[in-house]
Amino acid sequence: MRIKLSLTAAALASALVAAASLPQAAGAQQRFITIGTGGVTGVYYPAGGAICRLVNRDRAKHGLRCSVESTGGSVANVNLLKSGEIEFGVAQSDVQFNATKGQGQFQKDGAFGDLRAVFALHPEPFTVVARKEANIAKFEDFKGKRFNVGNPGSGTLASMNELLAAMGWKMSDFGLASELRPDEHGPALCDGKIDGFFYAVGHPSANIQDPTTICGAKLVSLTGPAVDKLVKDKPYYAIATIPGGMYPNNPQPTTTYGVQATVVSSAKVPADVVYTVVKTVFENLDEFKKLHPALANLKPEEMVKNGLSAPLHEGALRYYREKGWIK
Ligand code: GLU
Repeated sequence: MRIKLSLTAAALASALVAAASLPQAAGAQQRFITIGTGGVTGVYYPAGGAICRLVNRDRAKHGLRCSVESTGGSVANVNLLKSGEIEFGVAQSDVQFNATKGQGQFQKDGAFGDLRAVFALHPEPFTVVARKEANIAKFEDFKGKRFNVGNPGSGTLASMNELLAAMGWKMSDFGLASELRPDEHGPALCDGKIDGFFYAVGHPSANIQDPTTICGAKLVSLTGPAVDKLVKDKPYYAIATIPGGMYPNNPQPTTTYGVQATVVSSAKVPADVVYTVVKTVFENLDEFKKLHPALANLKPEEMVKNGLSAPLHEGALRYYREKGWIK
């Protein structure tokens, strides 16, 4: 399911009429851009909203009107970019890598040669959450239990598949492998419908805050030989820790591994458009970092390289060169 939240059809129609009849600001052409994100309770959606908020504030100057779209997540965003339905998308670094190379979930469709990296956002530790009463101490304890592996189109599900392959598990090793969306997995856990879920998400996130508060859900460490091998073999994985006390009822630090959230675009999107979006975010970075707590630790020198495996978009490269961040 995809929801357009910022513009109703009527508002869109009148905006288009207005755009057609109003004189343009000098040199600025009216242009709509859409950022594909994820579920509304994740971090991609508010992060995309934060980008649009900053871009829209200056739209009289540059003519860009930005809207944010809730989607299935990373894989859906790459596919929507490919079909030209969105201009920007948020994608996990493993998904960006696999789309660039035509590997993993993109093996069948082949490499997406026009995929372009724009900048990195926050780290996304793979987050395993268990129902308090399910008596789960480690990931392997979910064998035979009801576990939510992520919705179709999500990076979460793509990463889960890679983990299961590395562990030598199949989906049928779970008693039930459900594919609920992120806004559904917390309520399902607290209602006793599932025993745990997996979610690649930045922290802190309301999505994890809710089940840990409402039903005392427990964060579960994700470690062991399969994880060690994945981190050693794959350039896009790193060991990660979710600090103790970040969520209620979870005073212990949780060791896991994870990826980087990144913003991607397509070579088909004009350089001026990408340049304007990039410049707006970096010139307002202090404000951007305050728009969601998972964005609080962003640093420009990391944002221009961490987790970026597709070539940088020409418009992004232009800005980073101007700033001297990239040669
Ligand atoms: N990493 C998740 C995915 O691609 C989305 C996380 C979020 O929406 O914050 O499926």
